[in-house]
Amino acid sequence: MLEAREAVRNLRAYRPPLAGRTGLRLDFNESTAGCSPRVLARVRSLDGELLARYPEREPVEKEVADFLELDPAQVLLTNGVDEAIYLLCSTYLDPGDEALIVVPTFAVYAIFVQADGARVVEMSAGDNFTFPEKDLLGQLSPRTRLIAVANPNNPTGAAVAGDVLIRIAQAAPQSALLVDEAYFEFHGETLIDRAFIGKTSQIENLFVARTFSKAYGLAGLRIGVLAGEARQLAMVRRVASPYNVNAAALAVLPEAMQDQEYVGRYVTQVLSNRERLQQELGNLGLHYWPSRANFVLVRIGSAHAEFVRALGHRGILVRDRHSDRHSDPRCEGCVRLTVGSDEHTQTLIGALRDVVERLGLQHGLRTELPKEVRA
Ligand code: PMP
Repeated sequence: MLEAREAVRNLRAYRPPLAGRTGLRLDFNESTAGCSPRVLARVRSLDGELLARYPEREPVEKEVADFLELDPAQVLLTNGVDEAIYLLCSTYLDPGDEALIVVPTFAVYAIFVQADGARVVEMSAGDNFTFPEKDLLGQLSPRTRLIAVANPNNPTGAAVAGDVLIRIAQAAPQSALLVDEAYFEFHGETLIDRAFIGKTSQIENLFVARTFSKAYGLAGLRIGVLAGEARQLAMVRRVASPYNVNAAALAVLPEAMQDQEYVGRYVTQVLSNRERLQQELGNLGLHYWPSRANFVLVRIGSAHAEFVRALGHRGILVRDRHSDRHSDPRCEGCVRLTVGSDEHTQTLIGALRDVVERLGLQHGLRTELPKEVRA
């Protein structure tokens, strides 16, 4: 009988709740405004000839490199950041190697690490989800071959200073350090400026990932960027399909990068709405963690599922981090709310007030957790 590899048999299926997502989607940190009209016009102009041809990644890679002020050899376009993570695992992890992650964090790191038969070494974030630099440095071993850090982190919204990440990269030269900047546009700080100065990569084992899924509103097109030192990236390129990024994504990406005015306007809205939402959560007496991304994590307590359902009845989808199948340690009773446009945030705030009152959640009146998670 055919059997999958042991590492794969031991994997839990990762199935984010994608089905039936009708309504106001504040559950996947997508853009609620959608992509730029210029990008949409470009998508509509695509013809059969383009689709009949295998896509050519390199010319667009050069444009992205110019956009990021990097050398084309320092840039690999990927099928979203998800594929960048997959490729890094394939390039650097042998069975038995170790990969360090700080939890709670994005679930995909652990999945691809385990799929390669490597071991995930998890460290818990500090109080208020601060980055545990000392603990992480203490966990480094000769078997550490990958360290993955989302900055800002999902689902907490917490950010870590670039200096800390650079210290980690330097302390672990035998390990790839992936800094996942999927939410960069909402944070405004990047290691790309710091670490790849003058088109010569300064830190050989550092990789930075970016995506067009969030601020650019292109999650459905699946396009991301992996930036890294040229010789290392040449190794990663070896395990990537030459056609990993589809023709439609490649055709519209230059337009998406050019329409910075559109992205800038959306990001400005999200930043002010993030403030507005956090203020509102505070006024309602709910505990939340200040975010550097386009979402806010809030502690609802034992009524988390009811809360998610009640918003669902009002046509608003949010993400229950408590009951996530890849349950987030330390997120007991927590729900993640995506921050979107002015109009969508207004809708969310109106519904929040209503639901919080209906469920009696104001000022922690009902934040107790079930016994099994209190233990
Ligand atoms: N990294 C993080 C931290 C994320 O939260 C997400 C999206 N949920 C991704 C990567 C995935 O990005 P992409 O759509 O480019 O695969």
